[in-house]
Amino acid sequence: MIKKIHSLLLFSFTAAGFHAQNAVPAYQSRVDMVSEKNIVNNLKEFEGLGIKTTGSKENNNAFNWIKNKYLSYGFTEDQISEDPFKMGKVESKNLIITKKGTVQPDKYIIICGHFDSINGPGVNDNGSGTTIIMEAARILKDVPTDYSIKFIHFSGEEQGLKGSKHYVDNVVYKDNVRQFDIKLVFNLDQVGGKKGLFHDTVYCDEDQGGSSKNNKASTDATKELMKYVTLYSPLKAAVDPAEDTDYISFEKKGEVITGFFEYLRSELPHTPDDTFANTDTRYVFNIGKATLGALQHFAQASVVNEKK
Ligand SMILES: [Zn+2]
Repeated sequence: MIKKIHSLLLFSFTAAGFHAQNAVPAYQSRVDMVSEKNIVNNLKEFEGLGIKTTGSKENNNAFNWIKNKYLSYGFTEDQISEDPFKMGKVESKNLIITKKGTVQPDKYIIICGHFDSINGPGVNDNGSGTTIIMEAARILKDVPTDYSIKFIHFSGEEQGLKGSKHYVDNVVYKDNVRQFDIKLVFNLDQVGGKKGLFHDTVYCDEDQGGSSKNNKASTDATKELMKYVTLYSPLKAAVDPAEDTDYISFEKKGEVITGFFEYLRSELPHTPDDTFANTDTRYVFNIGKATLGALQHFAQASVVNEKK
């Protein structure tokens, strides 16, 4: 009897896509929609926007460029919000795009990355994460997901996670009261590698520090993430400690975090040489596939293929 119940439970979990050992066909078909051409074009355009120092004209132009991309994908103004913040005397904005879930609309998966840069155009750090998030949003726009998703583009990262800290302290929390539930924060930073290196692995970032209460859940999410990398992309996955990027602002409030970072670390970020020509766009494309697969599992996207 007990055995029977067990196998029934096991079946229902497998059917729902939990702990999948194989790619979910509908998820795979959306992963196949990740466009290398889109990624290449967007990285070129991102480079053309110049050095996106927080508070600069170029930084604001990049913000508007990202926002206009979402509008061109069919996202509506009411799905898009801005989180303006001050950093000393300069002003900048985070961009948030919200896609409502169908089963648990009040619980959010946050996929995020920064778009500001310093000293150079920041094509790897972090045009790579920026373009992947945009591509994921483009493909998932009309795909039902159980959980709500927020696609967030932070500014002020290079000056000490200023944008994400402002967002967590003033939007996720208001007067220290939590405004909404977050299931997972999935951050992409510096996933462009360096042209000429052999990039066949991506780091999956696990919370090993800070508050210890949320570490176990991060370990579990990161294990899942590593599995999705191998299911939906040609890459291998390795684990490294989460540090030095925007998920840390969430970690400090006890949220569950994970993320991607390049495995072979380029020395070009924060220099004028962090350019399109020096970025491995095929690596960005492959991490884009891994991201699409993982995000669909995390947000529990529909396993039914939409009709064309
Ligand atoms: Zn970065």
